[in-house]
Amino acid sequence: MSIVYLNGSYMPLEEAKISPMDRGFLFGDGIYEVIPSYDGNLVGFGPHIDRMVEGLALIGIDFDFSADQWRAVCETLAAKNEGDNLGVYLHVSRGADTKRFHAYPDNIDATVFAFVFEIPPAPVADKAKVKGYKVATTEDLRWKRCNIKSTALLGNVMHFQQGHSEGNNETILYNSDNEMTEGSACNAYIVKDGVVITPPLDHQILPGITRLMLLDILRKDGSIKVEERPVTMDEVRGADEVWLTSSSKEIAPVVEIDGRPVGQGGVGDVWVKAQTLYSAAKSNY
Ligand code: PMP
Repeated sequence: MSIVYLNGSYMPLEEAKISPMDRGFLFGDGIYEVIPSYDGNLVGFGPHIDRMVEGLALIGIDFDFSADQWRAVCETLAAKNEGDNLGVYLHVSRGADTKRFHAYPDNIDATVFAFVFEIPPAPVADKAKVKGYKVATTEDLRWKRCNIKSTALLGNVMHFQQGHSEGNNETILYNSDNEMTEGSACNAYIVKDGVVITPPLDHQILPGITRLMLLDILRKDGSIKVEERPVTMDEVRGADEVWLTSSSKEIAPVVEIDGRPVGQGGVGDVWVKAQTLYSAAKSNY
């Protein structure tokens, strides 16, 4: 039985109830985070909470909860639930109003919900063991504030479903200039001639915490060159390697795009190096 956190209390999932007038339910009016936890150790906790605080400020939700309070929720849920490899989902919606009206209401309390779910074990840098991702591509039709980790995810869900319905693991998105933005639930990268290249942070992509950590780890190590710049879909199709990152998958190598092999058709050598560095340094964040 799964134990969840709702508005200050821990309880079995079946007992967790929110109002149908909650603006998270009616409008997708909220912010969320997913933080990985391996054997009780949270990865990237500080940056995840910073992003949540920024997201809440961007959408004007006034919710005062310290990083220590969030840590206590994460650690308590990890302890109360089974499983060594967990994603901790944190969610703050603007709360329940008495009526359905678009303007932000005054004087309502935010709804705070958290639960854990099982994620795959952290990948090891081994070509023989890692899952190679197959992806579809499609034009990015989401909104122009993709930097906000909003619970309103229908655009992402529809794009994910497009790839999924054709047997793919993800969908890589591109803008009207034919430049890659990100995946429907992850950031995206190419590797060309040994250089790791990923689109810069702007309104078109989520500032992923795995992205932040990976770029920092690679730059500190210095053996792999990193560039943040626009990447055209022609470059994606001609890349030596293509990767996706997210908190639950770390660095995922893409082996097939729209049914065609990436690079030499297998997992690349730069991925092995990058995942090795990431695995060694991730607990510092
Ligand atoms: N982009 C999107 C659209 C996402 O939903 C996610 C998280 N699933 C990411 C990027 C990766 O973010 P993070 O590394 O913080 O998990």
